[in-house]
Amino acid sequence: MVTRRRFLYSAAAGAAMLSRMPQGLAATYDLIVKGGRVIDPSLGIDAVRDVAVAGGRIAAVEENIAADATETIDARGKIVAPGLVDIHSHAARTKEGPPLCLLDGVTAFVDAGSFGADGIDQGAANVKAGPNLGRLLINIARTGVAPGGELHDLSRADVSLARGAIARNRDVVIGVKARLSNNVADVNDLEALRRAQEAAAPFDLPVMIHIGQSYSPMRAILPLLKRGDIVTHMYAPAPNGILDDNGRVLPEVLAARRRGIWFDFGNGVADHFNWDVVERCMKQGFAPDTFSTDWNTMSRTTGVIDFPNVMSKFLMFGMSLDQVIARATVNAARVFQAFSDRGTLNVGAPADIAVLELREGSFEFLDNYQGKRTGRQRLFPVATVVGGKKAPARA
Ligand SMILES: [Zn+2]
Repeated sequence: MVTRRRFLYSAAAGAAMLSRMPQGLAATYDLIVKGGRVIDPSLGIDAVRDVAVAGGRIAAVEENIAADATETIDARGKIVAPGLVDIHSHAARTKEGPPLCLLDGVTAFVDAGSFGADGIDQGAANVKAGPNLGRLLINIARTGVAPGGELHDLSRADVSLARGAIARNRDVVIGVKARLSNNVADVNDLEALRRAQEAAAPFDLPVMIHIGQSYSPMRAILPLLKRGDIVTHMYAPAPNGILDDNGRVLPEVLAARRRGIWFDFGNGVADHFNWDVVERCMKQGFAPDTFSTDWNTMSRTTGVIDFPNVMSKFLMFGMSLDQVIARATVNAARVFQAFSDRGTLNVGAPADIAVLELREGSFEFLDNYQGKRTGRQRLFPVATVVGGKKAPARA
C-alpha cells in the first residue's frame, strides 16, 4: 500500500516560483517533459501529462503545459515516473558508480555495506562527488564487504569504531548493514547482528540484513530486528530462507512484516534468489516492499543489467506497472528518512524523473542460478532528469 504524501513546503515553493515571474508574462520553465504517460503512485496519477521543472524542482504536472522551456524532452509513447530509488546498491564503491547507475534512471541510491569503518570516508567522498543522491549503510565489519566474507573474525565487528565512523559521516550514513549468510558470517551471524544494532542505536538508524543460507534460522534472526529495519535478499533459497519445508512463508516472517520490518528484493548475482522461491512467495501474496539491484559496475553483464530490468521481472509475475513503479520509487523513499522528498513528482519536490519505455516482445530474465524465465514486457531506461537537469543518455 502506498500512502499519499503531501509536502508542507510545496505551497511555499510554488509561491516562490510565481513571485519570480514578471507580471503578465507566461511562465518559463527550465525543462518540460512533454506528453508522456505519467505514473506516480505517490500521487495516484496514471495519465498523459506534461511535467515542468524550474529551479531544480517539480513546478507543475498538468495536461498540455503551453509555457516556454529552455529544454524539452519528448516523452510521447513513454512512461514518466519519479526518479528510481535503489536501496541496495554498491554504487559508492568507486567514483564511476553513481554516474553509471544514473543512466539507468537511478536518481537516488543506498550503497549497502561496501564500506565499514575503515573505508567509509572514501565512500562518503564517492557519493558526494556523484550527480545523484547517494547515501551509505556502514558495514558492521570494519573492512566492509570482503572477499571470503567479512564476519568470520568477529573482532572486525567493532561497535565503537562503527559509531565513530557514523558520527564523522552523519550527513551520508543512514544505516548499518550486516551480511548474515554462512559464507560471510557462519556461526557469528546473531552476534554480528546484535553489534549492528548496538552501533545504530545511539543514532536511531535502521539496520539492513542480508539473509539466506545463514547458520541461524529466521526465527532466531528476526527477533533481533526492530521496526524500520530491512531484510534484503528476501527470496534467498534454503537453507534458512523465509519459506518452511513445505514452501509456505514462515509465520515469523509474516509477523515481522506486520510489526514494520521491510522486505527488499535485492537481485544480486549469486545465491540471492531463484524463480521457485519468487513464485511461491508471490502466489502467497508475499511481494517485496521494495526492489533493489545489489548493483555494481559489472551489473550490465549479469542478470541485473539495470534497475528497470529488475522491475520487469515482477511485471512477469503479474504486478501492475503502478505496483512495480511504487516499489522502485515511493516505497523506497518511505524506508529511509533521507529520501522522504524523493520518489515523487509532487510539486516542490526535487526534480528527479525517470523516462522509461515499456517494450512488448519476448524477454529472457535470469535468477542467480542461471534459471531463465521469459516475460512479455520489459522496461528500458531512455532518459533521466536529476535535480532538474537532463542526464547524459546511456551509450
Ligand atoms: Zn549487496
